[in-house]
Amino acid sequence: MSKLALFGGDAAVSGTLTPFRSHGEEELQAVRQVMNSGVLSDFVGASGPKFLGGPRVRQFEYDSQLAFGVEHAVTFNSWTSGLIAAVGALQLEPGDQVIVPTWTMSATATAILHWNCVPVFADIDPHTFNISIQSIEECITSRTRAVIAVDIFGQSADMDEINLLAKKYDLRVISDSAQAPGALYRGRYAGTLAHIGGYSLNYHKHIHTGEGGIAFTDDEGYAERLQLIRNHGEAVVGDAPESDRVGVLGYNFRLGELEAAIGSAQLVKLPEIIAGRQSVATNLIYGLQNLPGLTMPTVGEDRTHVFYVFALKVDPTSLGVRKDRIVDALLAEGAPVMRRYQNLHLLPVYQKRVAYGTGSLPWSLSNSNSTVRYERGICPTAERINEDEFVGIPTCSYEFGESELEQVLRAFCKVWENLSALQER
Ligand SMILES: *Cc1c(COP(=O)(O)O)cnc(C)c1O
Repeated sequence: MSKLALFGGDAAVSGTLTPFRSHGEEELQAVRQVMNSGVLSDFVGASGPKFLGGPRVRQFEYDSQLAFGVEHAVTFNSWTSGLIAAVGALQLEPGDQVIVPTWTMSATATAILHWNCVPVFADIDPHTFNISIQSIEECITSRTRAVIAVDIFGQSADMDEINLLAKKYDLRVISDSAQAPGALYRGRYAGTLAHIGGYSLNYHKHIHTGEGGIAFTDDEGYAERLQLIRNHGEAVVGDAPESDRVGVLGYNFRLGELEAAIGSAQLVKLPEIIAGRQSVATNLIYGLQNLPGLTMPTVGEDRTHVFYVFALKVDPTSLGVRKDRIVDALLAEGAPVMRRYQNLHLLPVYQKRVAYGTGSLPWSLSNSNSTVRYERGICPTAERINEDEFVGIPTCSYEFGESELEQVLRAFCKVWENLSALQER
């Protein structure tokens, strides 16, 4: 039995892992063409075709519509911008409540605050880490107007159940599919199964344009509002008469031509990139599934998982070792593991109920919001899993070739052989 690196032994993973790379010659060529054209952005914040962006932006949107089978695609300079625009497109009233899982990236919930609406945090399903349907129903009040489902770690949330609930309670649905580009749910693509959905295109995602995001909708009205919010909100989209235009707060959320050209080239590679991540996951499952007290990711039979993160759960009770000790040991071995994910309700912005200024907007906008709670204990599953069980492998961050996989698996096996040395007496 070799000595754990935590106690001075040699690390199982030698050297540093190579960052995951999705770009190559195709992107370089696309960028060169745009540079040669001299037009790095062709948006104009006034009526006319340029209100919708330059040729590369419109091409990338068109390519995405075809690739994912959706009526409208609207690009943004980040998916954070896309989420803000999506919530804005729903035309909620200040003080309205929007249900969102606590187990997600911060932008999913701050997008709600930007429109003076109130995030209500739902708990997660303990097997998939996605929003729990039962918890959504428990969170619904007379002020609830929308749900943002998140396809966390690369697997679609239970969209049919969510859409059914939404019909029953007259709610709008947004799907934050930032981590699940190209994932399938009952034969359709993640991100296209809500009123508005979409993907992130930032550096850390499966495919990326440096920074960027893309929203999808089958509804023309939502598409127009997304386009308005993206581009200062001041011009007409299409040829609607002035009297029909909605007033809306606009931003500059526009994607550049370079990024859009890279996006079109990346889109072609997405199936291959997904297959690569799925193969890494298959190998991880093969190498780790026999370790006791370690649960492999759950993948629904009606959907595919694109493995943005390979999410494991340890059972500290049966192992007799705290999760943090196991993670300490894995990290010392050089294994790329995540110790925690998110419990957004515990962030200061919600604990203190101060989003901007020093007052308590948007919570003070409506009496009904005094019953919205953020205390520890409101999302027991997400809290327990984050503290005691979750260990993630960021499958989209590194290359994980044969040798890297072998070393990472060796790190896990070594730690499991030495569990008794990690027990606290
Ligand atoms: C990455 C991510 C975002 C934000 O996307 P950006 O393009 O970085 O702004 C939002 N939600 C989730 C779940 C994400 O993983």
